[in-house]
Amino acid sequence: MSDKNRLRIAVQKSGRLSDDSIALLKAIGIKLQIRDRLLIAHSTNMPIDLLRVRDDDIPGLVMDGVVDLGFIGENELEEKMLERQASSKPSNFITLRRLDYGGCRLSLAVPSEMDYEGVASLQNKKVATTYPYLLERFFKENGVNAKAVMLTGSVEVAPRAGVADAICDLVSTGATLEANGLVEKDVIFKSKAALIQRADGELDDEKRALINRLVPRIDGVMQAKESKYIMLHAPTEYIEQVKSLLPGAENPTVLPLSGNPDTVAVHVVSSETLFWETMEKLKALGCSSILVMPIEKMMG
Ligand code: ATP
Ligand code: MG
Repeated sequence: MSDKNRLRIAVQKSGRLSDDSIALLKAIGIKLQIRDRLLIAHSTNMPIDLLRVRDDDIPGLVMDGVVDLGFIGENELEEKMLERQASSKPSNFITLRRLDYGGCRLSLAVPSEMDYEGVASLQNKKVATTYPYLLERFFKENGVNAKAVMLTGSVEVAPRAGVADAICDLVSTGATLEANGLVEKDVIFKSKAALIQRADGELDDEKRALINRLVPRIDGVMQAKESKYIMLHAPTEYIEQVKSLLPGAENPTVLPLSGNPDTVAVHVVSSETLFWETMEKLKALGCSSILVMPIEKMMG
């Protein structure tokens, strides 16, 4: 059973955001026992319950205060905000962090044989989409009078099925569009996953304190993913050249090697990875034992 005092977090049950969201929760130290068929998963080491639902439900659950936090695609979040605005429902929430996964774009795509010279070409046409509010806002901003036809799935087959003239759908690689004879024309919304929180005033102090501990851990995990720990041996006389080749490394640690005054060890946390080309240049300067290692966690 779920307990009101435990922090409730909504994640997509199964879909494109599920694995990355669960992996992030685990990476910040939350132990979870997820049983595939159950709606709720309890953490075994923190006062946290996970609610596993369809992504469409997550914005509403957060905005209505049914859960405290939610992991959601910004496309879905923005669509739900517009939908609630249209029916004068409040949409109170705070975006805590934009995350580093779930990247995609909501784009207009038309059949390859269609004459398309910008969005005005869609005047008086029908466009199939799962995101009618985002699409209608785009049409309005561009002064185009076109009709959004709501479809919850198989949007890409709508033109061939004669249901619509064009589509507006989520794209990441474009392979699905191509397979259906469609060409991407205009990006109307760029999206990533985000962590959102219910309105701040409605959280009790204990939950707020827990969130304040979890969010810096998320920053630490994201930062660590982007960073590398680089170690190498460098000729002492070329140390300045070596430093200038290391990316994003302002303050490397330079250590003497015992019994070898001509060589030093250089250690550095770099915000970028080291490309093969740079490693080759370092080698040409006389560097050796060049190691590039992933960082698991970072703080401060
Ligand atoms: P649910 O059953 O939970 O309603 P769904 O079919 O609506 O699932 P998914 O296809 O799993 O949703 O996509 C969830 C989210 O993943 C999207 O809303 C979007 O933010 C993100 N996403 C990332 N890349 C893509 C992509 N190529 N196509 C669709 N969504 C993507
Ligand atoms: Mg959905």
